[in-house]
Amino acid sequence: MARAPFELAGVRVAPGSRAQIDVPIAKLYTHAPLHIPVEVVHGRQPGPVLLVCGAIHGDEINGVEIVRRLLRSSSIRRVRGTLIAVPIVNVFGFVQHTRYLPDRRDLNRCFPGSEAGSLGSRVAALFREQIADQATHIIDLHTGAIHRTNLPQIRAQLQQGSETAAMAEAFGVPVILNAELREGSLRAYAQSRGVPVLTYEAGEALRFDEWAIAPGVRGVLRVMRLLGMLSASRRRSQPPAAEIANGSSWARAPIDGILRPRTRLGARVAKGQVLGVVADPFGNSEDEIVANADGIVIGMSNLPLANEGEALFHVARFDAIEEAESAVESFQSDYEPLPDTL
Ligand SMILES: [Zn+2]
Repeated sequence: MARAPFELAGVRVAPGSRAQIDVPIAKLYTHAPLHIPVEVVHGRQPGPVLLVCGAIHGDEINGVEIVRRLLRSSSIRRVRGTLIAVPIVNVFGFVQHTRYLPDRRDLNRCFPGSEAGSLGSRVAALFREQIADQATHIIDLHTGAIHRTNLPQIRAQLQQGSETAAMAEAFGVPVILNAELREGSLRAYAQSRGVPVLTYEAGEALRFDEWAIAPGVRGVLRVMRLLGMLSASRRRSQPPAAEIANGSSWARAPIDGILRPRTRLGARVAKGQVLGVVADPFGNSEDEIVANADGIVIGMSNLPLANEGEALFHVARFDAIEEAESAVESFQSDYEPLPDTL
């Protein structure tokens, strides 16, 4: 029996075909309609329904490029199951270069949302009903916030032996964080429905970071292979090394002032090591920011201006720090080098 077409927002996509669908989301004040752009790749053979989405935070644009490259990749010509690719979820924020919606809400804190709620709540409900609820698996693409950059990392809730844990490992970036769920996030919502979900965090808002985009595309393809949506690669099938962090914390600015970082993204640091120095503009007074544990720098501020208490260096802790360091090193040799902020 032939496979049924895939239906999304009233559009039917025949097996073995793909279609771009504009899902109506709201109207602007000007009465101009606004859509979430979606591409559905519906395979001839049955399999998982994978949602890959970017820019749920409107200024986190590395994911937009990851989705574009994924859709142009020859690897997805013959997909088993169905790929739902959404390059831009928060179309409002994307147009305005901002993380938020026009009502200043964070869309990734609005799930599951409600059709009768505020704009954020409605967009979340619509995205969920029309798109996310059809998915059996989800990869949500993010970057650091504005002026903040992240070492490519997967955040997921890892239960041993779970499909989520297998997907996290298969993605093939050096660091995996067993991250708590944020209330109202797409990840928390999907997890509550038992849908395996990964968040990929890499690079900085409003940038295209090649060292974040290229591994993101390969990571999604690797997960698709794991799920049986693509044929196994003829090349090496072993994913690159990844280490699971057992926790992480931010080192914060001790005083208001101007920051001179003394470390870089991906660096191994030791407890007590100076990560950076914050000084007043004259240099009369300065204070060191010190690592409070051994770990790897998985996120940091790129803005040399800091207020007291501001989170500047995100350090992840590992049981196997040597392995984590070598996972980062081998990642560095596979992709464009990480930025040198020193
Ligand atoms: Zn984000």
